[in-house]
Amino acid sequence: MRVVVDLNRCQGYAQCAFLAPDVFEIHGEEALLYKPRPDEAWRDDVVRAVTACPVQAILLDRSDEAVTAGEASDAR
Ligand code: SF4
Repeated sequence: MRVVVDLNRCQGYAQCAFLAPDVFEIHGEEALLYKPRPDEAWRDDVVRAVTACPVQAILLDRSDEAVTAGEASDAR
């Protein structure tokens, strides 16, 4: 699982840090730190954070699954 936060969009509302504290952390006034490759065990928390972010700044990359599906369709 890969997480990307658009820091230009992020307003430091800290919803993500509240819902997924193992992945997102607010430092200082508005500085957001996050783990770009969090453990799968935190997926539910990350999904909640993605949903809760008021400015939709968090992107959850599911390319792992997409790649698998693509490979399946290529293997004709
Ligand atoms: S919830 Fe969204 S706006 Fe708030 S700190 Fe997290 S990424 Fe930034």
